[in-house]
Amino acid sequence: MRYHDTHFHLDLMSEPEKVANEIERQQVYTIAVTNSPSVFFFTERVTSNKKFIRAALGLHPELAAERHKEIAKFSELIDKTRYIGEIGLDNNNKSPSDYQKQKKVFEKLISVCADKGDKILTIHSRRAVKDVLAILGDEFPGKVILHWYSDPLRHIDVAIDRGYYFSINYPMLQSKNGKKIIDSIPLERILIETDGPFTKNENQEFVPSMVPIILENLFSLKREFKSLDSLKKTIHRNFENLLKTTYNRPFKN
Ligand SMILES: [Zn+2]
Repeated sequence: MRYHDTHFHLDLMSEPEKVANEIERQQVYTIAVTNSPSVFFFTERVTSNKKFIRAALGLHPELAAERHKEIAKFSELIDKTRYIGEIGLDNNNKSPSDYQKQKKVFEKLISVCADKGDKILTIHSRRAVKDVLAILGDEFPGKVILHWYSDPLRHIDVAIDRGYYFSINYPMLQSKNGKKIIDSIPLERILIETDGPFTKNENQEFVPSMVPIILENLFSLKREFKSLDSLKKTIHRNFENLLKTTYNRPFKN
């Protein structure tokens, strides 16, 4: 059974090449997100000959105000990959003017993605999911993954109705709020992420080869599954469904 990690910051690891080789060895399908278009090339280069890793093009909300000029670069690079992230909004202790700038950037990025159609987005929505949902709208044509969802439960239903996925990580499985959120997500919409190096297990930064730890923790929470193996199968099927389009494109750029 193959594993996946839909949100991992390969470029922020101290030895990205080494980690990339390990991902290949372990055969963990990995979406390597980036935080701004100017650093996309690095990840693209490190992953260009890799079967299991794809570089995603992003502009992180906490850098969006400062780097809004990179929107042009984002538009230039968009045809290089099907995977988009990390993008989104963050309204945790942000000034109103910063948040307004973030919204402008995010609106623009979403409209660029919508024009292209078949993109897979991994989205940050801390204290901002309501606006994220409003900007995406009802008819966004790509696939959406809400990464590390932490906002009030009442917004989850809209995301579920629209067919969005949720990527679950280790800290979510450790927190009371995270567990409540995971409980509200239908099994067929759950994906796995590490969000390394921003998450740790006993002081060790999460990398894709540690996905089994997340699956074991998820198994102890989701009692619907008779075995860990059946949970793994469901989660893997979810990943396959994520990649599917009407013309069924495999895991490739
Ligand atoms: Zn992240």
